[in-house]
Amino acid sequence: MERIKFATVWLGGCAGCHMSFLDLDEALIDLAGLIEIVYSPIVDTKEYPHGVDVCLVEGAVCNEENLELLREIRERTRVLVSLGDCSITGNVPAIRNQLGADSTAEVLQCAYIDNALENRRVPSPNGILPALLPRVIPVHEAVAVDHFLPGCPPEPSTIKAFLTGLLDGGAPRLEGRQIKFG
Ligand code: SF4
Repeated sequence: MERIKFATVWLGGCAGCHMSFLDLDEALIDLAGLIEIVYSPIVDTKEYPHGVDVCLVEGAVCNEENLELLREIRERTRVLVSLGDCSITGNVPAIRNQLGADSTAEVLQCAYIDNALENRRVPSPNGILPALLPRVIPVHEAVAVDHFLPGCPPEPSTIKAFLTGLLDGGAPRLEGRQIKFG
């Protein structure tokens, strides 16, 4: 049987959602027979490939690099899944939105000047850091999303139930606050 092309992406998040995915433990062995991981922080692929069947996206959209990658992912992916509250609502990274319409200057000042012990200097916008977006946005504000898996992080059992349903070819069905759109 041909394995589905599977990807996971880490945008503005703490990696906790990826840890929850890895906490599937022995269920990952069953999954390994069904999926081929073609892009993920846990594999060494630099470019997001074409023809991806399913992609789990962790994290909010915080900077221009996130946005560019996400648009590329949407173009090249059949089923895009928002994984976790940061991806769905902005959650922790979006706290900076409370600072106002464009919080970038205050965030950079806080990170690189106010709380820096040495080398107090904001990096050039064209330097090593991608430019921050004026406000942090959830994934579905930037691109269409097929399914949402809430939680901070989503429980491994939720991720397992979702993927099992999806890979079985049926509509994933989840209970309670574990919602499904699309
Ligand atoms: Fe981390 Fe929670 Fe955000 Fe997932 S939803 S990236 S666990 S803060």
